[in-house]
Amino acid sequence: GCHAVKEAILEGIKRHQLEEEIKVVETGCMGFCELGPLVVVYPEGVMYCRVKAEDAAVIVNEHLLKGRIVKQLLYQDPNTRKPVPLMKDLHFLSKQTKIAMRNAGLINPKDIEEYIAGEGYFALAKVLSSMSPEEVILEIKKSGLRGRGGAGFPTGLKWEFTAKARGTQKYVVCNGDEGVPGVFMDRSILEGDPHSVIEAMAIAGYALGADQGYIYVRAEYPLAVEKLRHAINQASEYGLLGENILGSGFNFNVNIRVGAGAFVCGEETALLASIEGRRGEPRPRPPFPANEGLWGKPTLINNVETFSSIPPIILKGGQWYASMGTEKSKGTKVFALTGKINNTGLIEVPMGIPLKEIIFDIGGGIVNNKKLKAVQTGGPTGGFIPAEHINVSMDYESLDELGTQIGSGSLTVLDEDTCVVDLVKFFVQFCHEESCGKCAPCRIGTKRMLEILERITRGEGKEEDIEALEKLCDYIKNTALCGLGQAAPNPVLSMLRYFRPEFEAHVRDKH
Ligand code: SF4
Repeated sequence: GCHAVKEAILEGIKRHQLEEEIKVVETGCMGFCELGPLVVVYPEGVMYCRVKAEDAAVIVNEHLLKGRIVKQLLYQDPNTRKPVPLMKDLHFLSKQTKIAMRNAGLINPKDIEEYIAGEGYFALAKVLSSMSPEEVILEIKKSGLRGRGGAGFPTGLKWEFTAKARGTQKYVVCNGDEGVPGVFMDRSILEGDPHSVIEAMAIAGYALGADQGYIYVRAEYPLAVEKLRHAINQASEYGLLGENILGSGFNFNVNIRVGAGAFVCGEETALLASIEGRRGEPRPRPPFPANEGLWGKPTLINNVETFSSIPPIILKGGQWYASMGTEKSKGTKVFALTGKINNTGLIEVPMGIPLKEIIFDIGGGIVNNKKLKAVQTGGPTGGFIPAEHINVSMDYESLDELGTQIGSGSLTVLDEDTCVVDLVKFFVQFCHEESCGKCAPCRIGTKRMLEILERITRGEGKEEDIEALEKLCDYIKNTALCGLGQAAPNPVLSMLRYFRPEFEAHVRDKH
């Protein structure tokens, strides 16, 4: 509904001949999805929520003309029930530390000058004018940044491996094939701040000695593709992509490849196959893409959120980034809050923040004040954090100890009424449907798991089903070819670890 809102506000501004004084700027998403469409009036930063076209007249007549805040359109704090007029006073926003999402929702993504005004392309200028490729990689290593796509591999090491790989032709690939249900941070960055990714890819190109980049975006993100195309053209016009960038002699181009919507194409070897025009199926590793990637050449693959964090690291230094987070999980992470939580949306917080703070402070607590049952992390290949572990530190190691993972950052909140068995069935069904079918353990194993879960949720489960499910999980985990299959049993195993009695009750009571 945001376009209709924008048109209606523009019309009001025109009617009152305010065009000289007031500008209407379209931005990307600032993360507070629950409340959209949002209208923020500057310089005060008053934020109006769930605005409809018919609300435009009152915003123009009251706020823009008379300076009066329109109370009925303000956000209401779910705990105090008090309206919060200023954006800066919203816990949802004020408790965040935005690095990867620093510009999303604040600048016009179609205007490169707004990006440049916020020090955009300064990091690229810095590396081209005063840093050697080795120094760039060292800075990324110092930052402790780990791949935000799910695996959490140290980014600096990945860059170093690709830089050291033999070969004169190398590639930089951005993985924007965000397919996990309930995750949308890459989309938000691409739609709201596409230059941050383009700039980071050019920096990576310089560090590795690559002159060509590809951004792989899923077809379900047409707006992201449109914004990226526009941004690539603008960057080329401004001499920030192409030949002899900023007079440095360095050449770098970026092309977009649009995926066809297969979840497995988020797996890096399947993604590379898809870019090459082949069927998007994973292949065994080694060889790793750092040595043999796109068309057999050394290739660096990072996801959107990882790339977006690079320019601030270069500008402020690896040490600055590493000062946030925990000993082994540095910096910030974007999480997608979904499920039975009041403030759904995207948040970026320092690693190591207690889950409780995310759910009850930033997230505003559970819908209708119900009891928290668990938080599901890592999407269809992740696991559960039950309510008793609500104080867990949100970092790679702590979640690993609980048998789940950060993954790409989904946090699905379950209340006391949610059936975990149903949820797990949904995830297994998802993995089964998205299995590429190349290897039997995943193709057939996920089907068998799904059959058992369907039987149990139909009230036809048998005692031996639980044991069979456990065995299947073990086989699939240890024999599937790629990460999708290897991780498909995770939600089942996590459910059995924390909610076994509930699962057994389904079988025993036939419901
Ligand atoms: Fe394909 Fe699943 Fe095997 Fe991966 S594990 S290669 S998705 S069949």
